[in-house]
Amino acid sequence: MIISGKDLAKKIKQDIAERVPELTATYGRAPHLAVILVGEDPASQSYVKSKGKDAEQVGYKSTTIRLPEETSEAELLDVIAGLNADDTVDGVLVQLPVPKHIDEDRVIEAISHEKDVDGFHPANVASLWQKRDCVYPCTPKGVIRMLDEAGVQIEGKRAVVIGRSNIVGLPMAKMLLDRNATVTVAHSRTRDLAQVTREADILIAAVGRLRFVTADMVKPGAVVIDVGVNRDPATGKLAGDVDYDAVEGIASVITPVPGGVGPMTRACLMENTLECYLRRVRK
Ligand code: NAP
Repeated sequence: MIISGKDLAKKIKQDIAERVPELTATYGRAPHLAVILVGEDPASQSYVKSKGKDAEQVGYKSTTIRLPEETSEAELLDVIAGLNADDTVDGVLVQLPVPKHIDEDRVIEAISHEKDVDGFHPANVASLWQKRDCVYPCTPKGVIRMLDEAGVQIEGKRAVVIGRSNIVGLPMAKMLLDRNATVTVAHSRTRDLAQVTREADILIAAVGRLRFVTADMVKPGAVVIDVGVNRDPATGKLAGDVDYDAVEGIASVITPVPGGVGPMTRACLMENTLECYLRRVRK
């Protein structure tokens, strides 16, 4: 079974789009997502464009603020402070990475945690780890939605997450743990990685290495979720962390790249924006 993140994301966005007119009528305004881009990194530019397009598609107000590469940290923090103070803005997102002269942690902390649609603010991270009400980071949230949609039972299963980044691996592990999986987090210092991954009923690859997960690393019948987005130098096309062609026949469920986790991340950003909006207008 191949889980199409593209189709599920479309459905999620359609559901949101259907709700927005009524919410706008009830609360006097549509949800509003503000995205800041510093610099001209082509990948970041394309991500920001997609986020603005998604927001408009579901009926949100969308603001994109493009700042030059040489913007100082103080100037960026000022822009964030302005958006925090603006009552008509529900979600604030700074596209990462920011240029090297700007401290990423300081930027993330500057965003009001109530408007932190990425779920990266320390207050949201703490709430996630303490099982309190929080904004879930979009990518692991999207993965859980895909598993649920595919009818994968998570409880009691052995899950292995390869990768321990703050934005994917760690929150992914916690969210699987909260669904009562038995979770192992593997990383670059893991010994006998293939032996570890072969134990997984649910294998999540979030490494950032082209076709890193090979057939011998996958238990027959495992559910394999590919978070990775890599450019294949041979074809110039995007491909995942999983050697899809080799693993497809071994896994019971697999996600493609592109068209898998990526679109779900985008859809979950729209959901998070809606959640932040609802919390604010219902206060
Ligand atoms: P990251 O911060 O670079 O983290 C990569 C992780 O992989 C690290 O924890 C690293 O271990 C681990 N790793 C690297 N080499 C390894 C090896 N040889 N064996 C085992 N583990 C290894 O990357 P990220 O931000 O989490 O992103 C991971 C991938 O997901 C990237 O391809 C990224 O583009 C993609 N991504 C996709 C989406 C989406 O929406 N589809 C969203 C976010 C990210 P150490 O901690 O030991 O260094």
